[in-house]
This record gives sequence, C-alpha cells and structure tokens, in this order.
Amino acid sequence: MTNRPAAPVRPLPIRVPPHPGEALDSWLEALSARLDTPLGHLLHGLGLPRARVGVGTRGELPNWTVCLRLDEERNLATAADLTPVTVRAMTLRRWDEQALVIDHEHRAVRPGILWGRSRGSRYCPACLTDTGGRWQLSWRLGWSFACVKHKALLVDVCPGCSRIPRGPLHPLQSVPKPSTCARPEPGGNFGARTQPRCGYRLQEAPMAALQDASPLLEAQRFLLGLIEGHDATAALAIYQNHSIPISRILGDVKTVAARVLSVAADEDFARWAPPDLVERCRRYLDNLLTAKGKPGIRAGWCAPRDAAVTALAATAALHVLQAPTIEEASERVAWLIERSTGGSRLVTLSDTANWGRDLSPVLRMILCNERAGQLRPRDRLRYRTPVGELHQPQQSSLTLPAQRARSLPAMFWPSWSLRLLPVSMLNPRNRRMIHRALTISILQVGTAVSRPDAAGLLGDTPASKELINVSVGQALLQLDFDPHIADILHAITLLADHLDEHGSPIDYARRRTVFGTRREFITLDRWADIHHRPQETIAQAQRWLFETLTGTPAEAAPAPINLTPVELPSYQEFRWRLLPREVDSLRQTAIELLHQHGIEEPLTCDPQLDAALTERLHLPGVNLDGIQPAQIEELVLAEHLFPRQLARRLNTSTDHIYYLGERHPIDWLTGQGPRPPYTEADQWRDWYVHQGRSLKTIAAIAGVDKTKVAEELRRLGVVIRSRSAPR
Ligand SMILES: [Zn+2]
Ligand SMILES: [Zn+2]
Repeated sequence: MTNRPAAPVRPLPIRVPPHPGEALDSWLEALSARLDTPLGHLLHGLGLPRARVGVGTRGELPNWTVCLRLDEERNLATAADLTPVTVRAMTLRRWDEQALVIDHEHRAVRPGILWGRSRGSRYCPACLTDTGGRWQLSWRLGWSFACVKHKALLVDVCPGCSRIPRGPLHPLQSVPKPSTCARPEPGGNFGARTQPRCGYRLQEAPMAALQDASPLLEAQRFLLGLIEGHDATAALAIYQNHSIPISRILGDVKTVAARVLSVAADEDFARWAPPDLVERCRRYLDNLLTAKGKPGIRAGWCAPRDAAVTALAATAALHVLQAPTIEEASERVAWLIERSTGGSRLVTLSDTANWGRDLSPVLRMILCNERAGQLRPRDRLRYRTPVGELHQPQQSSLTLPAQRARSLPAMFWPSWSLRLLPVSMLNPRNRRMIHRALTISILQVGTAVSRPDAAGLLGDTPASKELINVSVGQALLQLDFDPHIADILHAITLLADHLDEHGSPIDYARRRTVFGTRREFITLDRWADIHHRPQETIAQAQRWLFETLTGTPAEAAPAPINLTPVELPSYQEFRWRLLPREVDSLRQTAIELLHQHGIEEPLTCDPQLDAALTERLHLPGVNLDGIQPAQIEELVLAEHLFPRQLARRLNTSTDHIYYLGERHPIDWLTGQGPRPPYTEADQWRDWYVHQGRSLKTIAAIAGVDKTKVAEELRRLGVVIRSRSAPR
C-alpha cells in the first residue's frame, strides 16, 4: 500500500444522513453531490486513501463498500457525525460469513461461494425515484432479485450502455449525479479518465412487474428475512434440531438452485413464473450453453447475472427447503432427481455427491430419503439409511469389515436367509448366490468396502472374487425391486450392528484358515462305519463337513470336493436322506476336528436379535415356527413326499423344508422295519417321477449313458415318457 500520510479528519460542514439500508458508495456520492464537490476531494477529506493500491486489486482504489478498515470506519464516523456501527452497516461486511464471504485482503466478495457478486449492483428504478437516487446495499447481494416494496424484479443492467451499474468507483474528478449511469459512454475510448459518461437516467429503466401473489416475491421476502438474521430454524422447520448456521442454509439454497438451473425444463419453471419470465430464463441458460459449449451444469455455481433466473432458481430451491418435514422435502425434490437421472428414481451416492461438496447434513438427508429417489441398496447400507441414520461410510480402511468378517460365515445364516428372502423369488442356484450377496451386504453396512474386497475378506481367492462380484451384482438386482427391500436392508443393518456389538462365539476367519483348503475331513473307513453306501457318498460327506466347519459354501471348497452346479441336486438329496444317527456322527467328527486344532467353539451358531428390534419389520421370507418338524416327518413317511411336494403342501419354500429336515433329520427307518437299500436307481426314479427331470439330465448328473438310465427305470416299473408328452 502506498497511502499518503493521513490528514486529520474534520467534521463535514453539512450532515447528510444515510438512508436505511443504503450502500456506502451511494451515500458517499450523495454527500459529494450535496457538497457539489468532486468525489475525489470528498474522499480525501474523509481520510480515505486516494492512492491506488496493490497489484492484487489491479491498481484500483479499494472497494470500501465491501469493507472498511477500523481506522477508516472511525474517520468516516467522525466526519459525518455517525456511529462506527452505522458506517459499517453500509458495507457488505455486515453479511460477511453469512450471506457472502469477503476476501478481506483484497476487499472483494468471493465469487462462487454463496452466490457472492464480485462487483456491481442491481437496482429498483422506483426506489431510486422515491429516494432521489439512493442505492440499497442489499441490491449488491446475489440473493436480491426483486423489490418487495414495488413488486417488481430488480433491473440488472443500464438500458443506455448495457453495463452493470456501479462496477468500478465513480470517477473521482467529477461531481456525481445520483440516479444517472456513471459507466463510460458506449463505444467511447475506454480507460480515458475524461471519457464522457453514459448518463442514462436509471429511474426510467423499464421494470418487470410481479403479481401480488407471485411466489418469487414471497421467496425474496423470505430470503431477505433469513439474511437479516431472523431465526432461521424457526423459519425452516426441517433445520430444527440441527444447529446449522445461516450460511450453510443459504449454501443449501444455492446447491438446490444450481441443480434447478442445470436440469429444469420450461414446464418446471412455469410452476413459479409467467411465460415471459420462463422464456427470459431459458434464453439466459441457452446463451450460457453456447458460450461455454457444454451443458449448463455450472449455471448456478456463481450468482446468475439475470434477476429472473436468480428468482426462479431460488424460489424452486426454497419450495424444497421450506417443506414442513424432511420426508416432504424429499418428495418435493424428487422431480429434480428424476430430471438429473433421465427419469429414473434409482440413484447412486455419486449422483448425490454431484450436487456439491458442502451439502448440510439436512440436505443430504433429504436427498438420501427414499421419497426423493431410491438410493441403490448398497449405498443405503453404506450410509445406514435403513435405520433412519445418515452416516458418512468409513473410507478406505478395511479394519471394520475385517473385524466383522471374523464373525461372519461366507454362506448366510440359513435361519436368517429364510426370513429375509421372498419365498417365490429364486431358483436354487441363484439362491445360493443370493446368500453370498447377503453376507457381503453385511460387510458393507457403514463401510465403503468394495464387493471384491468383501469377498476377499470372506476367503475368496483373487480369481473367484471377480466372479463373485459379478454374480452377486446380478443376484442383488433381483432384490433391488422387491417391495420389502427397505425392511430387508433394515434387518441386514441390525445384524451387522449385532456382530459389531456382540461378535460371534465362532471365529470364522480362523475356521476358514484352518479348514478352508482341506480336502479330506473323514476317511472312507470311518465313513463306512457310518453310512451304508460309503463309496458313493464319501465326497458328499466331505462337503457336508467342509460347509459345517467353515461356513463357506461347498462350491468354494478345493477340488475334488468342490461342488459343481450339476452336482447340487444330489448333494441336497444326500443331506435330505441322512438319518439322525448319521448326522450325529458327522457332527461328532466335526467337533473332533475342531478339538484337534484346539478350537473350543460351538459347531454352528446363528445370531439372535432382540425381538423388539425386528417385530415391526415386514420380512418377505417364511415364518420359521410356522411348521413343526413332526409334520414333515409324518407326511414323508406316510405319503413319501419329496421336499418340493412338501413345500407346496405346507405352503412354504423348499429351502424351509430342507432347513427343518437338516435340523431334525427324518428317521427314515421308523415303522418300516429295516429300510431297503436306497440305490442309485431309486434316486434316478425320484428325479424322473417326482422332480420331472429328463433322462438326459439324469444321465448327465449320474455320468452314465441315457439308455442305461431308461433301462434301470423300466426295471423299477417306471413308464418312460414319450418325448412329446407333457411332463
Ligand atoms: Zn423498489
Ligand atoms: Zn449506462
């Protein structure tokens, strides 16, 4: 700075009090006009430096209307017989950090923050007429677009020169003429100090009148009240119980308004303004498009230069934020989300993140509420919205998911998957993939862990991780559209919280390490003591032990015991046909294996949630207690029904039947005397007659020729279907 030594400031010979709400520059010019002295002389007398300042301000005089230094404030107060508070109230500092943010070093309003206007002022010609050319400070705010007294939009530019009034300071060497445009004459020699001025009488500028009941006027009244510090939380119900400063609330207004400008169609604008203003707004936005050559996504990033555009965007934004509840606000914002996503209500978090970085927690809640747009299930888990919260997920760290994975089997707990999954939804193969999807979902609650990383934590190898990622993604797509998805996600979140709080009596991470790569859990000799067809079933027994010990599906077991899709039916059949004593022996074998590794844990364990937490959830799965195991045993022994037939008869899912059968194995020998050996051919007959499988399929599963299957079936008295007959 190159200030001259300050001359002592003396009181001015006359008093010209500022008008209520007047801007400092307007008042200085009024003073200068009244004293009939060039502005420069007056400034000198008031102790304001005449020298131009620093490089950063491009060699201009400081913009005192933005802010004054304390000594300048004092000098002005002394000279004009005002209090320093009155002087300060004429500068934008009065709204600093509230409605705008000031760069104090350069005495400039920072553009891009809160719709700060770096220079110039809108104006109301009628107000200028009323006051003899006094300019309101609030007209300099990006938030000002209408005069609520004269019920009209503010005017943006001088009709004489098309420039924005009050850009640079009034020329120092001349006496101001209030209400006339002091910008250089159009087409003149720009920069010459003596250049003639435009001189347009701004009181005569045409105004765009607004109807008494115009929502734009209402929005302007509300905004000015907010900026003047009226109790914001009282004015905006949704911000109640959140101590959020006005600047952040205005930040939300700007965020929503910017989104409005980038996606709204004319018919949207028409909800708030007459056709001429909609048309004016569209022209402005189209110009922005062609000028920058890209979509108008940034249209509202800085304060729009057009009062009508500002008015429409702010009014549309306030319509959302003035809603009485978060839910209502979410409903009101839904149209914006639909426009943003091209009509879909399904949004991702990054869609929401695109709205801006500085969303207040309240606005984020509005956008993430399902009434606004359906957040994808994965994101709902990550942000914990199913339990009515909105937490930033833990980024990048795998600590929490890894800790949770210790308590989690890779194959979802059957008692929970039965309750969570819709009965009608899936074929058996898909169902097993869905189980894995549910487990991965548990790891995603409140964390940002990716699907492949989650699969890795559950023991998947790099090669299988990708496969799981894709399959799980496909499986989850089915869940996305289930009407019960909100309750399903709620239960998943509760289960994750349960694990975080209580852990599990089983350390599955250790089980996966100890048993996950093992190929033999029981020897053929030992199995022969247990089962009557040891040779044929030894691999199935290994799978049973692998799954029970690791909690991982046998599909992920090491070869040769890994389960292939084609073997799935026979594996299920094996489990279904196990006798109570055979299950006991297998369990005993498993427990011995645990002990051999010094593991003192229950063999299996499904988590129990407090009933109070889950009773209000409407889960689409089965009622586990709806069927008694005895009912199944009775039906099986009396009518020889198969699981699928039992499920139909008892109106439940096949999974439910298998679940009960495995927990309460059927004593196939009861009341039948010694059971005739159940041969492979018997199994083929069951598949053929009861499950309607074709000869070709059975041959493929059994690994024999089709004619051999047909021959065996005929021997058992089965009539072979002709190819054209319905099954
Ligand atoms: Zn007015
Ligand atoms: Zn002009």
